[in-house]
Amino acid sequence: MGEGMAKVNIPDHVYDIVIVGGGPAGLTAGLYASRAGFKTLLIEGASTLSQITITDMIENYPGIPEGIGGFELIERFKKQAGQFGLETTSADVSAIEKNQLGTVEGWKISAGGRHFEALAVIVATGAYWRKLGVPGEDLFAGKGVSYCATCDGPFYRNRDVVVVGGGDTAVQEAIFLTNFAKKVTIVHRRDRLRATKILQKRAFANEKIAFQWNAVVEEISGKDTVEKIMIKDVRSADITSEIPANGIFIFVGLTPQTDILKGVITIDQKGYVIVDANMQTSSGGVFACGDCIHKRLRQVITACGDGATAAFSAQLYIEDLKGEAYV
Ligand code: NAP
Repeated sequence: MGEGMAKVNIPDHVYDIVIVGGGPAGLTAGLYASRAGFKTLLIEGASTLSQITITDMIENYPGIPEGIGGFELIERFKKQAGQFGLETTSADVSAIEKNQLGTVEGWKISAGGRHFEALAVIVATGAYWRKLGVPGEDLFAGKGVSYCATCDGPFYRNRDVVVVGGGDTAVQEAIFLTNFAKKVTIVHRRDRLRATKILQKRAFANEKIAFQWNAVVEEISGKDTVEKIMIKDVRSADITSEIPANGIFIFVGLTPQTDILKGVITIDQKGYVIVDANMQTSSGGVFACGDCIHKRLRQVITACGDGATAAFSAQLYIEDLKGEAYV
């Protein structure tokens, strides 16, 4: 050590990297970081599941031509990252704050009454189902109102269900629901679908799927369980009608899980984290990846790519931090 150089001093318990979120982005970041020899902890949400685990079939993940269930894919990600020493725990993260760690500045992550310290944080908290916010939605949650076809579809064998939304999720899940339901009515607020053409084509060709265009749900009603869905024509508020249905599956988009990040890093108006091409957020030492970031394409493959990039950027940041601590 040369004259005037102070040795960097970081307490042993400090992680190099803490990853928040256990979906494809977080687990890929965990795989890359642990394989590169960084002491890494992944905190997976205790009360929320990664969206992927409730996805019936993924057929556009390269290298798996036969397709794979979301639950199985995530189990494989976990096994692979675990082989390189990724530590994992399950808890809901409540705060991420700056913290002095020995001679360097790092981060304190509070989760489930515990605190973890790290030189860098990778946020991979994902995005979760948005609610409609109509009467009956909360009342009949679990009694006919669902946000997961894989979980609840089998309860609707030979019954009638409504699917709300016109995106990839709504159309894909409506097709899946035809494995059980007698009839699936897609209620969409416009006169055309947003979903990709291949899914549209399959839905239009499926005899069990009917469409209710230019319509929004006004109320979900029934006695003990869902019995009918009141809908309103968006072009004329006077035109209302009801669809008899035993279940309603709501797929109207996503809300990013970024509340804990407000005031810590820059997020956009819709709550998505702003990152640069290297997954760097507005705060040094905090990186973000996957569905919680502002971007166009939210897929497993893009989440994985983001996760790998975030891990690499965190590695460079830590090497720099340790190097810069010599004065
Ligand atoms: P999305 O693409 O944002 O679509 C949401 C749908 O819900 C839209 O059709 C929207 O209508 C409608 N909607 C929004 N708010 C509504 C409201 N209050 N009342 C009625 N309808 C409402 O969301 P997503 O389908 O969940 O997909 C999310 C992301 O995951 C996308 O990037 C998608 O490509 C991706 N994904 C891909 C696949 C696949 O590749 N197989 C499968 C699932 C999801 P408008 O059309 O009028 O806006």
